[in-house]
Amino acid sequence: MSPLMYAAGWILVITALAAALAALHVLIHSRVPRDHGPACWWCHPHLLPRRRG
Ligand SMILES: [Zn+2]
Repeated sequence: MSPLMYAAGWILVITALAAALAALHVLIHSRVPRDHGPACWWCHPHLLPRRRG
């Protein structure tokens, strides 16, 4: 087994896991129409730091 195939396999596994997680999250959000509150990082992403109020 070549290292290239090993890396490709891992990339496939990680991609499948990410896709499954994203699908699960989308499914949950489609089943729950109401707001999930400020704690939900999907509805209220906190990727950017907030310096101003
Ligand atoms: Zn949410």
